[in-house]
Amino acid sequence: MASTFTRMLSGRTTAMLMASVGAGTLASGYLLNESGVSAADRKKLYPPSADFPDLRQHNNCMASSLTPAIYARLRDKATPGNWTLDQCIQTGVDNPGHPFIKTVGMVAGDEESYEVFADIFDPVIKDRHNGYDPKTMRHPTDLDSSKITSGMFDDKYVLSSRVRTGRSIRGLSLPPACTRAERREVERVVVQALSGLKGDLSGKYYSLTEMSDKDQQQLIDEHLLFDKPVSPLLTAAGMARDWPDSRGIWHNNQKTFLIWINEEDHTRVISMEKGGNMKRVFDRFCRGLKEVERLIQERGWEFMWNERLGYILTCPSNLGTGLRAGVHVRLPLLGKDPRFSKILDNLRLQKRGTGGVDTAAVGDVFDISNLDRLGKSEVELVQCVVDGVNYLIECEKKLERGQDIRIPAPIVQFRK
Ligand code: ADP
Ligand code: MG
Repeated sequence: MASTFTRMLSGRTTAMLMASVGAGTLASGYLLNESGVSAADRKKLYPPSADFPDLRQHNNCMASSLTPAIYARLRDKATPGNWTLDQCIQTGVDNPGHPFIKTVGMVAGDEESYEVFADIFDPVIKDRHNGYDPKTMRHPTDLDSSKITSGMFDDKYVLSSRVRTGRSIRGLSLPPACTRAERREVERVVVQALSGLKGDLSGKYYSLTEMSDKDQQQLIDEHLLFDKPVSPLLTAAGMARDWPDSRGIWHNNQKTFLIWINEEDHTRVISMEKGGNMKRVFDRFCRGLKEVERLIQERGWEFMWNERLGYILTCPSNLGTGLRAGVHVRLPLLGKDPRFSKILDNLRLQKRGTGGVDTAAVGDVFDISNLDRLGKSEVELVQCVVDGVNYLIECEKKLERGQDIRIPAPIVQFRK
């Protein structure tokens, strides 16, 4: 008995609890077990209704879907990696909205988060992915880039073309939840695998911890590297912890095939180049991505994937393909036209500033990319961007000639 009690008192959590609830409770052994008092146990002192976040000012998908009943069902659950609902939604509670895009408002800490907290993730996914029902639908994958047609944009308008996705390593926690050791393991596994890339894909890893501030800023300015972790979406989700430990960028010698390590996802795989040759960019993307997967599998690891959600990533907005195919495109006339937003919506396209998701579009150049990620294949999404951007350029040319433009009919959604 004495030894059990000593063990009970040894934990830091126990000491904190003693201070907060008083020794009387402790002496009765309430809530204690051999390993101390877990955060989940401490929560049970209060009913879920007392813990429900105030979301009245919020405009994100999580806030629209989270009801007191769902919260009550899920609050005290945890994934096998001990990740909780409150940890998933903290970023959406702390960030009521975003100035430029409608955010999701929650992240996963591990692959199992999507199953254990499906009661909230599923409606959020349905909302964000235009009605995709993760309970009944199957996500298709198609990385056959030869199917793309009209993939060359007019270089007079399109300055650069890019396709990116994310991939997570099964068995390791995602960036909001990972330990330092897990994060370092991601870096080790991926960098070792990438050393096997050959030919035009061969390159080198640049660790952020070893990079000078100047070199880092230059890569950011060239649009090759993720921004420093200033975004509150990132920091509130716990993704900037220990920065820059185990973060870095791998790129080929031409800087046209890049892999970001341990930013918002374990990996982001990117193909990009100047000009409007989206077809070539997507060819390289598919070839490189298949090669990266093969090299990772060769070492006994695999990507997180299931047939309902496709590739599993940190943010539910990226589930499915994880694919964002986009261009930096100059649209001085259309960009000022009041119909621009509606045209983008109907074409299932999203607009960002050229400095990334946290920047406003300034001047005439926009980052235009696919809005959807889930329920459609990579080929379908890239084709949607190709057709959509060609339509935008046609509109711009018509406005140059003083002709009128038309808002296109909304494009057909995935087959349900
Ligand atoms: P992601 O969704 O891939 O994380 P972000 O919006 O966070 O993209 O932007 C990351 C970086 O990628 C930024 O520097 C941004 O300018 C750059 N980028 C995105 N799309 C393009 C593009 N089509 N051409 C050049 N750079 C791009
Ligand atoms: Mg980003």
